[in-house]
Amino acid sequence: MSATIIDGRAVAARVRAEVTQEVAALTEQMGRPPGLATILVGDDPASAIYVANKRRACAEVGIADLHRHLPADSSQAEVSAVIEQCNSDPSVSGILLQLPVPEGLDGAALTATIAPQKDVDGLTPISAGRLMQGAPGLRPCTPLGVIELLDSYDVRLEGADAVVVGRSNLVGKPLTFLLLERNATVTVCHSRTRELATVCARADVLVAAVGTPGLIGADHVKPGAAVIDVGINRTDERLRGDVNFDGAAERAGLITPVPGGVGPMTIAMLLRNTAAAARSQRS
Ligand code: NAP
Repeated sequence: MSATIIDGRAVAARVRAEVTQEVAALTEQMGRPPGLATILVGDDPASAIYVANKRRACAEVGIADLHRHLPADSSQAEVSAVIEQCNSDPSVSGILLQLPVPEGLDGAALTATIAPQKDVDGLTPISAGRLMQGAPGLRPCTPLGVIELLDSYDVRLEGADAVVVGRSNLVGKPLTFLLLERNATVTVCHSRTRELATVCARADVLVAAVGTPGLIGADHVKPGAAVIDVGINRTDERLRGDVNFDGAAERAGLITPVPGGVGPMTIAMLLRNTAAAARSQRS
């Protein structure tokens, strides 16, 4: 293997340490800590674990845990009312509605009611529009984490050929605009892309956010490229990324492992966004 392995755990630990300092300063200035309202509707076990991890991470950096748990049979109006309360509560700096919500609820419509200045997941239409227009705003956590990893390893983005595989609203599309903002030349691939390997092999920076284990192999990688694997796929044996690590690492210059690459960055960027939201709301 010739590639350097990007240590997402170490980068995330550094971001968390920075956020801890910023939260301490904000707490002193505001007379109370920044607060994150995680909203969990129902009892989906995976969602419950994700939310528990976010709450624990908040506590570790000094962010107040303002969690709200609603029953699975809550109505759209009831969930919406809780979001409205959080929107107008000054102790809530950031709001995160855990998706997916139970069947019968419209998660996208509920997300859209989160006040943009508290949208620490960066997923409301207003935040997405601001990102697209290059206006200031809160950005989605996983794409921010990808950029942070690239910056931490001094990967030059200006003028670089970047290929993003995947065009979801959660990862692929926002990452495309973040890379564009940094003056990369960005190509976006999806399920209808022809000659995927040929397109990917042009990339100085290749990001896979697909959800298909091992889709990206050595043939997709330009020698020396930075390869970022966002995929998290639970297979029978283990957790796998979208990149066939062993093959791609033979050609890449830098590569993220799964686990231990992008995964730890998502919560770290959520904490950073919550501190940024609190800073912008200071009165
Ligand atoms: P998603 O909404 O399912 O989107 C997947 C994208 O991949 C779609 O745009 C799809 O194209 C494209 N695609 C599917 N098959 C393809 C193929 N054979 N060739 C090229 N493109 C293909 O998934 P997502 O939410 O973006 O998540 C992607 C992966 O990242 C998942 O494994 C997820 O678990 C992981 N993830 C990780 C984190 C983290 O914290 N590390 C956070 C979020 C997501 P179409 O648009 O044409 O259907």
